[in-house]
Amino acid sequence: MLTNAPRGTKDILPDQIGNWQYLENEIRKICAIYGYEEIRTPTFEHTELFKRGIGETTDVVEKEMYTFTDKGDRSITLRPENTASVVRAYLQNKLYGDGGLVKLFYIGSMFRYDRPQAGRLREFHQFGVEALGEKNPSLDAEIILLAWNFLKNLGLDDLELKINTVGCPKCRPVYRQKLQHYFGEYHDELCNDCKSRLEKNPLRVLDCKVDAAKDFMDDAPKIENCLCDECREHFAKVKTFLTAAGVDFKIDGKLVRGLDYYTKTAFEIQYTPLGAQSAVAGGGRYDGLVEEIGGPPTAGIGFAAGLERILIALEKQGITNSAQKKLDAFIVTAGSSAEVYGFELLNSLRQKNIAVTMDFASRSIKAQMKQASKSGAKFALIIGEDEVNEKSVTVKNLETSAQKKISFDEVSTYIFK
Ligand SMILES: [Zn+2]
Ligand SMILES: [Zn+2]
Repeated sequence: MLTNAPRGTKDILPDQIGNWQYLENEIRKICAIYGYEEIRTPTFEHTELFKRGIGETTDVVEKEMYTFTDKGDRSITLRPENTASVVRAYLQNKLYGDGGLVKLFYIGSMFRYDRPQAGRLREFHQFGVEALGEKNPSLDAEIILLAWNFLKNLGLDDLELKINTVGCPKCRPVYRQKLQHYFGEYHDELCNDCKSRLEKNPLRVLDCKVDAAKDFMDDAPKIENCLCDECREHFAKVKTFLTAAGVDFKIDGKLVRGLDYYTKTAFEIQYTPLGAQSAVAGGGRYDGLVEEIGGPPTAGIGFAAGLERILIALEKQGITNSAQKKLDAFIVTAGSSAEVYGFELLNSLRQKNIAVTMDFASRSIKAQMKQASKSGAKFALIIGEDEVNEKSVTVKNLETSAQKKISFDEVSTYIFK
């Protein structure tokens, strides 16, 4: 047990880190281009924030949260997602200033107690953006395009963009009622979760995985027939902006987010080769969320993307990135005075931004040379008694085996050459 990480967690090892660093660089690059600034919120928050910010009736809050009582008797939860935390930080730190649009992004670990499977761990990583303070449909399109172009730029093909609208508190009650009435006819055929969803959250029946293939799903009422004028116009404009940007999309009426503070646009991007786990990014508008968390009425929209799943997609497509650059040099020493002299060289080269290390175990020359080759360094810097006395260093190019003795002060120039 001591040497096994908890179920649903994973070490990211040095030979995998290149892919992560690549993703993180791409995230920072595109967010800078779109004008989104990074925010880092705490890994845990008061449980109440997530109950309010995600919704008491959701699977995440009902079944999947890591919640505990701390020594001060507070109920604390490891964040299962980051939107509620960002909104909390926005309010607490008055990021709204004098009004206007605030555009933020984050990268970090999230926690959900769920059955672990490929691309779905209990501690997993998300990249997300949130834009607060503006209800214009052009912003919906910008957010969708950011997600889309991020995934495209990574080199992923076979991406599919699905969009929908979920209406607003004005028009959604009509749709809810229609769904309750319709699915009520098929009550006995619904899965147990949906039987209770039907009362609390009937929109969620539409995206139930268990009931997806059942016959009655196809004829379920469509939201487009229930939208108010404002929601209808908003959705039409989002489509116009996306079309203007040259992005293909599909309208998917089953793409729903069932809670009252979710409004208007919902979207999902799928990497189709991943089959059942194909959603790599998803989000939408939440014009009621800031108020739900205790702030003034404030429009908001965002998305989150799962990094583990994106990495699986990249792997499927054969896109890999190796870790940061290898060592430039490895210092090999013979004897204790050479060791001190080598240490001096080590620090002098590091100050000149040369990536260099040495043997710290006073091993034999042969063992050190082996280690130097294994390290991937281009040069071995060999120091024996002669070199100490002459203030020189024998530089061996480990690729060509060419060897040359040069003075201590010239080593860095030689390596940079
Ligand atoms: Zn509406
Ligand atoms: Zn169901």
